[in-house]
Amino acid sequence: MRINDIIGALNQWAPPAYQESYDNARLITGSPELQLQGVLVSLDCTEEVVQEAIDKGANLIIAHHPIVFKGLKSFTGKNYVERTVIKAIKNDIAIFSIHTNLDNVHTGVNRMICDRIGLQNCKTLAPKSGLLSKLVTFIPTEHAQNVLDALYAAGLGHIGNYDECSFQVKGTGSFRPNDQANPVIGKNNERELVEETRIEGIFPSHIKGKVVAALKKAHPYEEVAYYLTALENENQEVGSGMIGELETAIPTASFMNLLKEQFNLKVIRHTAFHKTEVKKIAVCGGAGSFLLGHAKGAGADVFVTADFKYHEFFDAEEKIIISDIGHYESEVFTKELICNFLKEKFANIALNLSEVDTNPIKYF
Ligand SMILES: [Zn+2]
Repeated sequence: MRINDIIGALNQWAPPAYQESYDNARLITGSPELQLQGVLVSLDCTEEVVQEAIDKGANLIIAHHPIVFKGLKSFTGKNYVERTVIKAIKNDIAIFSIHTNLDNVHTGVNRMICDRIGLQNCKTLAPKSGLLSKLVTFIPTEHAQNVLDALYAAGLGHIGNYDECSFQVKGTGSFRPNDQANPVIGKNNERELVEETRIEGIFPSHIKGKVVAALKKAHPYEEVAYYLTALENENQEVGSGMIGELETAIPTASFMNLLKEQFNLKVIRHTAFHKTEVKKIAVCGGAGSFLLGHAKGAGADVFVTADFKYHEFFDAEEKIIISDIGHYESEVFTKELICNFLKEKFANIALNLSEVDTNPIKYF
């Protein structure tokens, strides 16, 4: 198996197109063509983690946080980023980062946090728009189902818990083939009217190439008529944070204890417990203060996240309890999430969870 086989599966789960603009989720070192020897999954990639990969015979590190975030201009080993990259390259270790794309998919980091807390009815807190497109095409009616099946197989027509979503209406298509044309229906230089079915459906914009290729392959016409439109709709399954509910309301202090247990916390930084009981919980792994407005707007009792600054805590304004559990602590179980995904997909690969505690923050 090649490293690219693993990357392909991860990219299907958390498409790189869903990462934030500032991110660098990708293969950072190593060739995708390398034969896979073993995988090491970690939250961060540091020199110690690269050494761990060498020791464990793994030549692919899958790290949530990208070691290279912005452009490097030298490789002299003057800081930990350069040293980590140099060590990986010298030892033929591939480093792959699956970062905000895994935060943004509804089966990713935030779902893992919701599951650990035991939340139900989980939804994306801030769904993203601008990620969907619509295809409209016209097919001779007797071929319509064939073409539609090919479009579904390519990924068209998936909305939430439904697939094979489309709309069809019958009508009359008109065309006139010229001298050079080789028409399936009709004669050269003669107007042709054909009973056609107009089919429309939505798909994630990043699979446009695949959808159009499937359409052209399955459609019987020499020239396929179709329109592509970019949509403003939100994609409910892609976006930042998540919100869900506990099975029943529980005392606020009990909820904090639950967090401590589930995330192995020594300490939680939080705002005043203005509510004695809580039920509706918003979450965001890692730095989540940008979602406070969404969490308040959605009526969450508590917002579980990390990296809040002093002044940002004031913004809770007794409308929500901010619960800052620490960046590392909120995301460290991402390792298990990735490992479990790979275990299901690939039965026979050597999978290792990193044992290095990469948290740079210590509590005295
Ligand atoms: Zn993070």
